[in-house]
Amino acid sequence: MQTLEPLIVILGTGGTIAGTAQSAADGVGYTAAQLRVEDLLAAVPTLAGRRLEAHQVAQVDSKDMDIATWQALAAAVRAQLDRPEVGGVVVTHGTDTLEETAYLLHRVLAPAKPVVLTAAMRPATALVPDGPQNLVDAVQVAATPGASGVVVAFAGRVHDAVQVRKAHSYRVDAFESTDGALIARVEEGAVRLLGRWPAGEALGLARIAAPAADWPRVDIVLNHAGADGRIVQALLAAGVDGIVAAGTGNGTLARPLEAALREAQAAGVCVLRSTRCDAGPVMELPGLLPSAGALSPVKARIELMLALLAN
Ligand code: ASP
Repeated sequence: MQTLEPLIVILGTGGTIAGTAQSAADGVGYTAAQLRVEDLLAAVPTLAGRRLEAHQVAQVDSKDMDIATWQALAAAVRAQLDRPEVGGVVVTHGTDTLEETAYLLHRVLAPAKPVVLTAAMRPATALVPDGPQNLVDAVQVAATPGASGVVVAFAGRVHDAVQVRKAHSYRVDAFESTDGALIARVEEGAVRLLGRWPAGEALGLARIAAPAADWPRVDIVLNHAGADGRIVQALLAAGVDGIVAAGTGNGTLARPLEAALREAQAAGVCVLRSTRCDAGPVMELPGLLPSAGALSPVKARIELMLALLAN
């Protein structure tokens, strides 16, 4: 008896990969999130004949990603992974907040099957769109025996959800594993493993089940030359629950900003120190505000929200 290849489910959420422009020459003046995920698949002849299923979970420009969409996506991914016939899930997404969604899914689901996020820098109508190849690669990664965890397949490279960052605003290879090794490369349809598939402990969907209005408010404040504490005071007045300080270098903060953050901490606000550098950890040192480790400010924000949601 012939065994069926595992089913790969593609979940669409919008982004530039589903974007359209008036002209094929227009790579930036387009509208994201226009085409349905079924249309994206239909445009890739090399995927014809593969065992695929497509569902539209959302249709957003990922700059507008929100908590309700995260909840719907996490639940949809979980439901698909729970089907025994599903070998893996691909999520099409915008590039702008892709690393945030990847990190959230990693922390909430830490799946034993692969969940592969992919996207595009050019709209589907571009003369040479990058979405179709990224989609083919993502399906290939999701179908790779032994693959697991939340990863990002983009421009021929496979990144870990914890490491990946959008590192360029325009280049077609916009993502980097800024502080760690690549998991794999996809070359002519072959997945060449370079590292390890991500592992972790799932917090579970219940952790993110609270209605969006009840989620803790966590904001990011940047250190820079001349930074003072006024933003922090404004956030305190607005009822902030947590603040991630994107410090300079090894999480350093201008004196007035640090003083304001300590005041916020004394008032019950959870404060984490991260870095505005593209890579590297912030050392935990006695007497300093707590460190976010090697998490980027946006991922430290998600980590802090998840921690506060546990209370
Ligand atoms: N603004 C778009 C989005 O994040 C950008 C992209 O997908 O490249 O949805």
